[in-house]
Amino acid sequence: MTLLIQDEYPKKLLREDGLRLDGRGLTDLRPIKMEVDVIKNADGSAYIEWGNNKIFASVYGPREVHPHHLAKPDRGILRVFYRMATYSVFERKRPAPGRREKEISLVISECLEPVLFLELYPGTSFEIFIEVIDADGGTRCASTTVAALALADAGIPMRSLVSSCAVGKVDGQLITDLSGIEDKAGDSDMPVAMTWFNDEISLLQFDGKMNQEEMDKSLDMAKDALENVYQMQLEALKKKYIQIQEGI
Ligand code: UDP
Repeated sequence: MTLLIQDEYPKKLLREDGLRLDGRGLTDLRPIKMEVDVIKNADGSAYIEWGNNKIFASVYGPREVHPHHLAKPDRGILRVFYRMATYSVFERKRPAPGRREKEISLVISECLEPVLFLELYPGTSFEIFIEVIDADGGTRCASTTVAALALADAGIPMRSLVSSCAVGKVDGQLITDLSGIEDKAGDSDMPVAMTWFNDEISLLQFDGKMNQEEMDKSLDMAKDALENVYQMQLEALKKKYIQIQEGI
């Protein structure tokens, strides 16, 4: 949990020993735990703890579109609602969805859409509700990752999963998976998501400065991290079926 206000950000984000303030090496991910089928009333659901982030995703669909005028006669639509709880951050967040939440909902929707077969579901909607109950940097990446898991848990046909992680730069060094403080006080932040059926990047945002060489190296670091995140997603999905098989 970040308990610092803007003026109190540390001057240095790397320690004397070259490690990060939370003890991680430059390319280490924070501890990640994922679980599917956590909300019984949803068609599919998942939960992720990614460092201090705690996020639920629930999926409903295909179902009737409300309001009706949003329905498309030739395809289904995907609607994503990313929300951060008022108590999820140090300074109380206003409860009404702000510009940031709308933007994050849109980018998550755009990076998940390529893996769905929306053309097979005319006139219907798929809705994903993402609830961030504790936030500490990288929530859009963790949300994308957990939303893809919830879609898979719902049994919705997908071309592949989608995995996401940020890379960036602090104190002139490239790092993987920025924490809240690294996100706010660092030099740059680049959230990336990957669709695995075509190995394409479906999300790439960028804030800060990097040269071409740093950008290329960051993308390589992101790909390594995404491969790890992907394996964890697969494990979380498999765990559900192993438990069913074993009658747990
Ligand atoms: N944050 C906050 N208050 C807000 C929005 C964000 O304290 O109203 C924190 C939160 O920890 C978040 C981090 O700032 O994870 C970085 O936010 P950003 O907009 O970069 O999105 P994220 O990195 O979470 O995808």
